[in-house]
Amino acid sequence: MKSYFLFLFLFVSSTCLVGQEIKDRPRDGEGVYAFLQRHNRLNQKYYRAFIKLNKNKLGKDNELKKHHTYIIPDLSEKNTNADETAVKNESSREDKSWREPLFGKKEERVKLLNNQLEGACFYIVSGHGGPDPGAIGKMGKYQLHEDEYAYDIALRLAKNLMQQGAKVHIIIQDAKDGIREDRYLANSKRETCMGKKIPLNQLERLKQRSDKINELYSKDRKKYSYCRSVFIHLDSRSQHKQMDVFFYYAPKSTNGLRLANEMKRTFASKYDTHQPNRGFTGTVSSRGLYVLTNTQPVGLFVELGNIQNQFDQRRFILSSNRQALANWLALGLLNDFRKGKE
Ligand SMILES: [Zn+2]
Repeated sequence: MKSYFLFLFLFVSSTCLVGQEIKDRPRDGEGVYAFLQRHNRLNQKYYRAFIKLNKNKLGKDNELKKHHTYIIPDLSEKNTNADETAVKNESSREDKSWREPLFGKKEERVKLLNNQLEGACFYIVSGHGGPDPGAIGKMGKYQLHEDEYAYDIALRLAKNLMQQGAKVHIIIQDAKDGIREDRYLANSKRETCMGKKIPLNQLERLKQRSDKINELYSKDRKKYSYCRSVFIHLDSRSQHKQMDVFFYYAPKSTNGLRLANEMKRTFASKYDTHQPNRGFTGTVSSRGLYVLTNTQPVGLFVELGNIQNQFDQRRFILSSNRQALANWLALGLLNDFRKGKE
């Protein structure tokens, strides 16, 4: 008698589970992969199922829209319609994960989600660091140092790119600060240029990171058809217009211009989706900055806002916003990579 009830109960409850649709809204800046990852749907079959289930609610390039609710594909075997070899490949990919201690205890596990960036190599450089905090903003009793916020975004970007199969060098490093969720990031002078002390003199400081990238690039260029360096800053010197993002490329660099334009287009479309009323005033221009003209791989220098501006400060102190900015940078790089792998 007992077992009969147990059986009935299991039968009924599992029927309910199958019949029940799981839905959720995306978080700020989340793309399909990140959204599915958060729901533990890690491989291509869920991606395909998701696109099928939600095709009417997706933006262009299958972008998620902020205030929409999306159906999450079942975890059941129903979604396995790929052939067996494909499934095998997916599951071995699913297993591929490793540790990157720079991301900090909570975030150190890196899981390969897809291979969209296979063949791409990135040099991710957060501005300033070591003895140089960069621009300093004040918020109540807190001092916001540009180098700490740029570093947090740089780590998030690096992780995103690694999870999509790219080779990533994190040029400026802090052995202690991983990816942080805090609003007010504690300031330190620990940052190094891949283990080497950062000099205070500005020219020496910039030369050090350029030389390091060039040294790595001399080997990478034989292996990777697409190499890009990305310099992340938060200290726009131009006027205090909210939401300004500046993308700079080296004078006469065609590929630098293409990347900067692609980044601007990506950011503009993200602003349309996430903050339709605020508008986006990103600009692309060429600028003879030391790191752009002296670093061999194609470079992008980005100023994500002004840490001294109170509107921009609100954007940077929320970790979800820092993650969104990192995700958009990663998406811009992916879009550019897809355009041509030279
Ligand atoms: Zn700066």
